[in-house]
Amino acid sequence: MSGLFAFHGGLKTVRHKTESNQTPIQTPPLPPRLLVPLRQHIGNPAKPLIQPGDRVLKGQMIGQADGYISAAVHAPTSGVVVALEPVPVPHPSGLADWCVVIDSDGEDRWIDRQAVDYRQMHPSDLRNWIRNSGVVGLGGAVFPSAVKMNLSGHCERLEHLILNGAECEPWITCDDRIMRERAAQIVAGIHILAHLLNPREVLIGIEDDKPDAIAAMSAACAGTGYQVRAVPTRYPSGDVKQLTKLLTNKEAPIKGRSTDIGVQCFNVATAYSVHRAVNHGEPVISRIVTVTGHVRQPGNVEALIGTPFSALIDWAGGYREGAERLIMGGPMMGFALHSDEVPVTKAANCILIAGAADLPAEQPALPCIRCGACVEVCPANLLPQQLYWHARAREFDKAQDDQLFSCIECGCCSYVCPSHIPLVQYYRFAKNEIWAQEKEKQKAELARQRHQARVERLEREKQEREAKLRQKAPAKAASPVGESAQVPLETAVARARSARESVTAPATADSDAAQG
Ligand code: SF4
Ligand code: SF4
Repeated sequence: MSGLFAFHGGLKTVRHKTESNQTPIQTPPLPPRLLVPLRQHIGNPAKPLIQPGDRVLKGQMIGQADGYISAAVHAPTSGVVVALEPVPVPHPSGLADWCVVIDSDGEDRWIDRQAVDYRQMHPSDLRNWIRNSGVVGLGGAVFPSAVKMNLSGHCERLEHLILNGAECEPWITCDDRIMRERAAQIVAGIHILAHLLNPREVLIGIEDDKPDAIAAMSAACAGTGYQVRAVPTRYPSGDVKQLTKLLTNKEAPIKGRSTDIGVQCFNVATAYSVHRAVNHGEPVISRIVTVTGHVRQPGNVEALIGTPFSALIDWAGGYREGAERLIMGGPMMGFALHSDEVPVTKAANCILIAGAADLPAEQPALPCIRCGACVEVCPANLLPQQLYWHARAREFDKAQDDQLFSCIECGCCSYVCPSHIPLVQYYRFAKNEIWAQEKEKQKAELARQRHQARVERLEREKQEREAKLRQKAPAKAASPVGESAQVPLETAVARARSARESVTAPATADSDAAQG
């Protein structure tokens, strides 16, 4: 524990790691059809670059990053694009999202892959390369990594680059296996991150229930100056805030970023994908997925993005008796799925087929007895029961005052609540309502601004018209027509009369002359 600092709260949970971490990562058969979502990351979905009927090669960009917070998407194998259409994706809502549907040609033929020498590249070119390679946080957050590699404006110099190998959720072992089997490649990725971010120190945090991963990473880091630290096995040590506290004793301000305290954190699998992208010219087209629980042969598999979950469950020997629920992620922070026909995305670290005994029994929620157990375990130092009351009463302002948005939805409070109150569901509900209200407010503000702009434009046009008229007026004053327009009526009548008379007189004279 030397060099480590405790965080508040947290839990000792059941582990269920050995079910899937005993065998090496395997490669399943190439699926005949892949469903590749254009939205697999935080931010804007990728813009499609293909049309149905196009032939694609493995690794070809099929969706371009759209805006700063976005990431590219690539074809996971060679074949033909047969559709660009909404397909059910792994999301708690069960809704469909736009996917590129590719029928494999069975050849699995790569694009021309090009490595780059990152030491010779301008930092922004290197970040763009990583962005165009579709690299996002593979710990589950799927935030575009290139954005996190740009510190400008956030801190002068990074103090700590943290590599997250904690993997604290029960059942999930994909990071454990990748650290055991591909430690050297992860370290190659860390070199690239360190080159871009220039941290004072590099810390790699791994829970102490993964001795083989700790040994492999320590051996790979020998001579680099990077420090591998075993952190206590206590959920949620893998959350970025808790891991930062454990390793550095620093805490980011409530509404701030980790870079405000000189810290940036990447998952170990993300470092591996940075290495593949830069040193091999391979974009993110696959990820390691733990398939575990009520399947016959649990394990870890390197699955192509877009592979249907059902194909991986078949690879794992199919469902075992007692399978009750399909979950993406772990039992604490994952979510239930309605179908196993959804595709693997960059966020899919685990497919858990849970049995009745693996999940907390669904019991009716009882009234809160104010026991305070939730406060004891909350790693974010919140008052979970207060947040629950505010969410229940739709007092969203009060919930925000009590730091609702600092809740990391770790589920510790729900886990220990003797009244079986689904607390996290209340927090998600409150957050969604606040976001919806915020969107409505923004829409109303936009409408107000548009109306205001229209009023101002009309007023401006009116004033311009009037100014033009005023400019024309002096010009008219110089012309006879203009003068007559301003002559009083009596004067005009008198002038007309005299004009008539003067016209008559010469006519008589002319007539006399003609006759003479
Ligand atoms: S643990 Fe449950 S019952 Fe106890 S105070 Fe928190 S919400 Fe109330
Ligand atoms: S879910 Fe939120 S409120 Fe509950 S323990 Fe975790 S951080 Fe605290």
